[in-house]
Amino acid sequence: MKKGKIFFIDVTNRDGVQTARIGLSKLQKTLINIYLNEMGIFQSEFGFPFTHHETNYLNANLELAAMGVLSPIRLEGWARAVTGDVKLSFELVPNIKHLNLSISTSSIMLEGKFMGKMDENSVIKSMTDAVDLAYKLGAETIGVNAEDASRTDMDYLVKFAKAAKEHGAKRVRYCDTLGADDPLTIYQRINELAKRAEMPVELHCHNDLGMGVACSVAGAKGAVDAGQDAYINVTINGVGERAGNADLLSVILALKYGSGLKNENLLPAETKLDKAWAFAKYASYAFNIPIPMNQVGVGANAFAHESGIHADGALKNRRNYELYDYEELGRGEPEFVDTGRMITVGEYSGIKGFRNVYGNLEVAFKDDKEATRILELVRYANVHTQKPLTREELLFVAKYPDQAKKIMTVTPP
Ligand SMILES: [Zn+2]
Repeated sequence: MKKGKIFFIDVTNRDGVQTARIGLSKLQKTLINIYLNEMGIFQSEFGFPFTHHETNYLNANLELAAMGVLSPIRLEGWARAVTGDVKLSFELVPNIKHLNLSISTSSIMLEGKFMGKMDENSVIKSMTDAVDLAYKLGAETIGVNAEDASRTDMDYLVKFAKAAKEHGAKRVRYCDTLGADDPLTIYQRINELAKRAEMPVELHCHNDLGMGVACSVAGAKGAVDAGQDAYINVTINGVGERAGNADLLSVILALKYGSGLKNENLLPAETKLDKAWAFAKYASYAFNIPIPMNQVGVGANAFAHESGIHADGALKNRRNYELYDYEELGRGEPEFVDTGRMITVGEYSGIKGFRNVYGNLEVAFKDDKEATRILELVRYANVHTQKPLTREELLFVAKYPDQAKKIMTVTPP
């Protein structure tokens, strides 16, 4: 049987930012999309197209995609599988082409969330109506999300997926919403779902039992073994609701170096790891969440050795105690931190300090008018982020001032 392929869909800008105590400014969300594109990630679930405060950010990011800046990554919005959300999404973000439409499918949620107002048939009807409307309004690809799929009866899940497929959905998202699955179970369930529904499956796994990454790769294997493509949902640094989602870098490394998985050649060929370190650090800075010392690949201890036997072994041959090389992740270069005078730019900066900062980034401005315009945008960016802008953020604002302006414009009704 032909094997399916694996793709990555990052959900940091949706699941990540909807998490308690975690948030990003629209400029930071844009930078996340840029890093994802640089890592060769297939798709970013870049936000909520039916929410007014996201409108300018989403439209500007679609402009960046049309300009080739956010390309080849695919930008996809999340909405509930109800026609109202779909209609509003296309009103606010008319050029959106990719959507994932979500609705609960488990009996426990049908009873506990919809309180008897929806049954299994009306859930399918709401979903297929939403899919139909989205295609009518100009969507190119739709994925349908079965929320709480891991606690949903398999026969019903297959019926739900088949109905979605009949209406043109390209993927069904199997949401392990509570992180209740384990790798052995999810392999079987995804394998059965993919075989019976005969369509690609998305893996959306949470980490409540510490198995988010393990379930993602095991579930994906279940789909590809059934001859269907698998789309693994990931987030940067594993952020996400409660204990988080499957960590992007961990999933990549598991597919590349897992003792059995590595022989299957499942890692998407486009995946690039050399920005992994820079991306993880940026996300940590933007989220205000330190990277745990033992974080896979990018933690302070990921390549540290102290005990006599380990240090001696690693020094003799790194393969004694290191599964992969830190250089591969973009680690290993010394980092310079100014310990004397430092000029930063913020919302109260003046033109001299600003020119000094951009001069250090080797950005020159045509004239004073251009410099003043960029300075004004940088001040606004700082109002949004409330911390010194990073090198990449400063470069983005200088390179794409029109989009930066749009991204930062949030006008309450
Ligand atoms: Zn989730």
